[in-house]
Amino acid sequence: MKAMDRRTVLRAGAGAGLAAGLWAPAGRATAAARPAAPKDPDWGALKKALGGRLFRPGDPGFWPLNLPSNHLYANRIPAGIAYPRTAGEVTATVLWAAANKVSPVPRSGGHNYAGYSTTNGGLLVHLGGMRKVTRNGTTVTVEAGARNADVYAALKDTDLLLPGGRCPDVGVSGLVLGGGIGLATRAYGLSCDSLTDTTVVTGEGYTARCNDNSNAELFWACRGGAGGNFGINTSFTFDLHRVRQATAWYDLSWDWKDAAPALKRLAELIADPRYRKNLTCQFGLRTSGETRVYAQGLFFGSEQTLRKLVTLLRPGRSLTGAAGIWECMHRFYETSSGDPYLSSSIVAGQDLGAPLVDELVDSLGSWKSASPASRATVSFFAMGGEDTALRPADTAYVHRDATFIVDLATYWSDTDPSWVADANRHRLQGLYRVLSKTLGTDAYQNFPDPGLSNWQTAYYGRDNYKKLQRVKRTVDPDRLFTYPQGIVPTP
Ligand SMILES: Cc1cc2nc3c(=O)[nH]c(=O)nc-3n(C[C@H](O)[C@H](O)[C@H](O)COP(=O)(O)OP(=O)(O)OC[C@H]3O[C@@H](n4cnc5c(N)ncnc54)[C@H](O)[C@@H]3O)c2cc1C
Repeated sequence: MKAMDRRTVLRAGAGAGLAAGLWAPAGRATAAARPAAPKDPDWGALKKALGGRLFRPGDPGFWPLNLPSNHLYANRIPAGIAYPRTAGEVTATVLWAAANKVSPVPRSGGHNYAGYSTTNGGLLVHLGGMRKVTRNGTTVTVEAGARNADVYAALKDTDLLLPGGRCPDVGVSGLVLGGGIGLATRAYGLSCDSLTDTTVVTGEGYTARCNDNSNAELFWACRGGAGGNFGINTSFTFDLHRVRQATAWYDLSWDWKDAAPALKRLAELIADPRYRKNLTCQFGLRTSGETRVYAQGLFFGSEQTLRKLVTLLRPGRSLTGAAGIWECMHRFYETSSGDPYLSSSIVAGQDLGAPLVDELVDSLGSWKSASPASRATVSFFAMGGEDTALRPADTAYVHRDATFIVDLATYWSDTDPSWVADANRHRLQGLYRVLSKTLGTDAYQNFPDPGLSNWQTAYYGRDNYKKLQRVKRTVDPDRLFTYPQGIVPTP
């Protein structure tokens, strides 16, 4: 890969800016030559640059735009919300933020677990006005605010797949920048593996077009280096996968009494090398609702063969069917509840052994709900298929030897008192200890845990984190974009 140098960024930036007629003729402010910060931010100037689409606390429209998916962070109040509708307006917003020393925080779908697209006193850059999805033959270009559901709407009548996640409201930006796993990953790789091009307005205010030949290191970083680190990506282009094989889906559940044997049989089937690339699976346990143990996924083959595999699992309830790829993906779309929650993740590099299954079932079986709305879920995303085709250093997404990604979460209600959250946090930590003792502490950057102390190596591995730090130094040395687990530039 060609190394990124600052001149390449500059050239790409000047070209893109001029083409759009948005580049300041006098040259834009660099870190060294930025005007001194005014005493009070010039909100009027930003409002003008955005054609009026700036919302301050108290303005109509401010509160709905501010509400994140995880209500645990709903009380964070930005000083303003910018609502750009073009890449040029994103550039104007970033330059304004740098000049006025107001920290910009991009938000696409707003589904970050840890509230990293919220801010107290900063500038929320809400990308909801940029949701266009344009297919061009076997590629698709997606604007920064597009959600999984927008991609579905654009591609559902084709057999061309962009492997995405399970929640229709999750933003493609956040998903792809952190990797992107879902029910097609074992067959077609991560979302970021299909990315061929992206445009970033960097922390220095330059527009950088990134692909394998241009700004290659920033392109590398945009495939797993997580959102909010280098600037604001305004668009993404992906290669699509033509799905020629038959596709079948399954949806299984078991009673609690059968949890341990069911999980052991599932783990064996998923690890079987014959099914690593044609059988996908998310399975897990829930402490509430009718279904306590479930497994859902796709099989790239006939429904008849799938049924034989399903029979081996001896489910209590079993549904299967055959459908086009997008109908299958859509079938398992799941929106978030809107409740506050806490979550931890583990990226496992080994199979799920019988002793651990027993421990997990014991721990979750004894979970005591602190309030009627309190609940816990442990979800396993099977990995180890096409996601392992690339090596850890090929992209910033490092977890190429993963067998499972585990997501542990606990939810409660907006109206529960704070002790309920504390009790749930305590129980979640206990559950995490049980699993991490055997599976280790590597974690998925798209399921961030603000309590994780070794997040740099857990999310990125030592070498990839160092490289991310170098990229950060090149494109955002002053840390205009920053959050508690944000990449820190090499000194
Ligand atoms: C209900 C639910 C289901 C999920 N399902 C899956 C799943 O199936 N697979 C999976 O892999 N993940 C899944 N996730 C996790 C999800 O992929 C991440 O939370 C993702 O980062 C969310 O993206 P977003 O754009 O919605 O979030 P946001 O909160 O808007 O953004 C996430 C991060 O990226 C930054 N950011 C946003 N837009 C940009 C941009 N244009 N340029 C630069 N930085 C930006 C934000 O500042 C923030 O730091 C799920 C999350 C939830 C809540």
